[in-house]
Amino acid sequence: MSCEHLICARCSNPVVEGRCPTCREARSELHQHGPFASPTLVLAGLIALLFVALVLQRAYG
Ligand SMILES: [Zn+2]
Repeated sequence: MSCEHLICARCSNPVVEGRCPTCREARSELHQHGPFASPTLVLAGLIALLFVALVLQRAYG
């Protein structure tokens, strides 16, 4: 189920926009199964990618 069409009972805005803590909590719960559920995970992925790029650069430089 997606939260794209849900309206928040607290702030009356689309939950997907995350304008209040209730929205953000509901949104994160609904999207927890996705690969980009948490910003920390995305950041960790980017750092890992950067690390790999550095290692490759050293190996071939
Ligand atoms: Zn809200």
